[in-house]
Amino acid sequence: MATNRTVRLAQRPTGLPSPDTWAIADEAAPVAGPGEVLVQVDYISLDPAMRGWINAGRSYIEPVEVGAVMRAGAVGTVLASHDPAFQAGDAVEGMFGVQRLAAVGPKATGMHMIDLGLAPAPTWLGVLGMPGMTAYFGLLDVGKLSSGETVVVSAASGAVGALVGQIAKLKGAHVIGLAGGPDKCAYVTGTLGFDACIDYKAGDIRKALAAAAPGGIDIYFDNVGGEILEAAMALLRRKARVVLCGAIVGYNDPTKMVAPRNYMNLLVQRARMEGFVVFDYADRFAAAQHDIAGWIKAGQVHPREDIQAGIDRFPEVLNMLYAGTNFGKLVLKL
Ligand code: NDP
Repeated sequence: MATNRTVRLAQRPTGLPSPDTWAIADEAAPVAGPGEVLVQVDYISLDPAMRGWINAGRSYIEPVEVGAVMRAGAVGTVLASHDPAFQAGDAVEGMFGVQRLAAVGPKATGMHMIDLGLAPAPTWLGVLGMPGMTAYFGLLDVGKLSSGETVVVSAASGAVGALVGQIAKLKGAHVIGLAGGPDKCAYVTGTLGFDACIDYKAGDIRKALAAAAPGGIDIYFDNVGGEILEAAMALLRRKARVVLCGAIVGYNDPTKMVAPRNYMNLLVQRARMEGFVVFDYADRFAAAQHDIAGWIKAGQVHPREDIQAGIDRFPEVLNMLYAGTNFGKLVLKL
């Protein structure tokens, strides 16, 4: 390949990113320097957090600078290596960015080998990748799930939410999901085996949640924030845990990033709300992947990826996450 197609941040957007947010071009192919590895990027992960990464100012990670290649987790194939730990043909995962070729320092990109015999490449961006780790550690470490508890999870058909509910089920919980639309809800209760799913677009969320969880909620795993968070907070049981994973309602519209007015229910119920960042668990990822791979094999976890194709479609495919038109872990084949 003589050229490298790249997607760079052209300007910081206000609200939803538009095609003008990005600059897509062919550039000279990169060359791996000393200690570096040249990777052909096969699939990239589309993550709701990407919207936060292109805002100015540091959050839990440095912002992507205007002019830089857009940051993205990815899986690829080693083409050439100046690092003895990797050789041509290896399948690898790392933060390679939205580009077809990446010359990377393995340490800087968190690059590591993946076993395509265990699962196909897109699954390494889904239940065996960052979203999978988020579900696993968010539910088990932060949420401290016990058998018999009632768990509610939002964005339940998505990459993180679907696995949260499946792990909760196999650990003996009563699981209620919230998802947008009847098709997603049918999938959540059918294929994924949740006990109930609320179509949050169809009516009064608080009423529906109270009907689905008459005894209250022990764990609310929050992927969305806003109105759903407030509805769940109203139903917390004594010593409940609210796992603050994300708040997608506000990623493109900060006016929707509102605090729950009933947060005093945390006090009344002696409950807690705790945020977490998945990268903090990196030294335990291998153990989590081992567990999840076992559950896939046992038929207790059903991976689902929504695979779109074409690097030039990155702007429109990213926005699928915010419109809810993805169905499963959203991946782009480059
Ligand atoms: P998903 O695969 O769940 O895709 C996003 C989904 O969010 C959409 O499909 C849509 O589902 C739902 N959604 C979009 N807009 C809204 C809205 N306004 N109100 C309610 N739901 C909405 O994404 P992920 O599983 O990758 O991410 C889920 C969450 O986890 C995100 O908040 C993300 O930022 C967070 N996260 C946090 C990490 C951490 O370390 N704390 C790490 C990784 C992810 P529907 O059609 O059902 O509405």
